[in-house]
Amino acid sequence: MKAEIVSTGTELLLGETLNTSTHYLTGKLSSLGIEVDYHTTVGDNSQRLEQVLHKAIERSDLLITTGGLGPTADDLTKELVAKVLDLKMEKDSVSLEQIKQFFDRRKAPMPSSNEKQAFFPEGSKILPNPIGTAPGAIIEKGGKTVIILPGPPFEMEPMFNNYVWPELARIVGPNAVRMNERVIKVFGIGESALEKVLDELMNLPNLTLALLAKRAEMHIRLVARSTKITSGEALKALDEVEEEIRRRLGNKVFGRDQETMVGIVGQALNSQNLTISTAESCTGGLLGAAFTQEPGSSRFYLGGVVSYSNSLKRGILGVSEESLKAFGAVSEEVAKEMAEGIRSKTGSNLAISTTGIAGPDGGSDEKPVGLVYIGFATSKGVHAQKFQFYGERESVRQLTVQAALNEVRLRLLCKQ
Ligand code: AMP
Ligand code: MG
Repeated sequence: MKAEIVSTGTELLLGETLNTSTHYLTGKLSSLGIEVDYHTTVGDNSQRLEQVLHKAIERSDLLITTGGLGPTADDLTKELVAKVLDLKMEKDSVSLEQIKQFFDRRKAPMPSSNEKQAFFPEGSKILPNPIGTAPGAIIEKGGKTVIILPGPPFEMEPMFNNYVWPELARIVGPNAVRMNERVIKVFGIGESALEKVLDELMNLPNLTLALLAKRAEMHIRLVARSTKITSGEALKALDEVEEEIRRRLGNKVFGRDQETMVGIVGQALNSQNLTISTAESCTGGLLGAAFTQEPGSSRFYLGGVVSYSNSLKRGILGVSEESLKAFGAVSEEVAKEMAEGIRSKTGSNLAISTTGIAGPDGGSDEKPVGLVYIGFATSKGVHAQKFQFYGERESVRQLTVQAALNEVRLRLLCKQ
């Protein structure tokens, strides 16, 4: 099945809105084994949109459109799909009632312009939109399928998952080739070193392996193709290769698929009934932000301070004047005193500190940009670890956050 996606909206062509819907839909279609041959973005212009729709319907079996379902004069998608397929527009009274109810719930009269959202090309299968006023539609004619979806991603995505995905799964049937994907997430090893360690796993016959360098971690993406019938074999191949990767990389692997470093650390803190606090210099609160990004983080994260200046390091955390003078703010000693200071202030079980030179200025031969110390304090004592990161300011800061979280992970889960 040959598919293509047409996204409409002048805002996409002006660079005001990032076309996330095409990215989203292409990923979904690929995992169903549907090949997407073209992406077209077209403005809210009836002539150009008609041309694009005409071409798409001519050359593809499946066309998905997004956008242009609003109530205003520049929302043209349904009308032009009807014109290109030579279908009349028909009113759907169920949709009209739902749009009326949408306004009733908001205690507002329905503007007459919204009525047009209840009209569809004849024979459409209508896709309800519980979030907004624009229903979608599936139209089949002459062996071609056209699926019309709304523009706002928070309306389009649930509509796709609830109605379109099952329909497409039915159309492609059990013999379609699907992509079974798994992502293994790694911290503390670079791309080329990783490639060396993985060695012959990079060229296996039954699955493909790709390395994706993220700002502060590496992802290993495994894809095994299968039909529905052979999906058991594909999953087995993924499990075996994942096991081998974990064997080779040990505790450098921190998670897979949707798992995140901070999520793993949060779970470990929770399950071991431990609390943590933070004293941050070069990360300026990013570590606290990472912890609080997790729902339920109030159970383990007590809070922290951003002690950017030496006077706050002294005044709030009790870092000694002598250490600051003798070793400087970016030093093992100061990292340790920061961690101890915040632990005794908050009474948390664990405490973590960051101090480093994020750049681009402030580096020297002795203390280059990217030099970072991460302190870690528990009731048993305190220690600090030195890191040398490379890259621009934001990378150094993000790598510091990730390394600090990784430090907690290793201590809680890997018993090193
Ligand atoms: P529309 O249904 O065309 O009125 O689109 C409404 C809004 O949805 C637009 O203002 C955009 O903010 C958003 N939108 C439309 N198309 C896309 C797309 N392809 N990707 C991301 N957002 C979109
Ligand atoms: Mg639009």
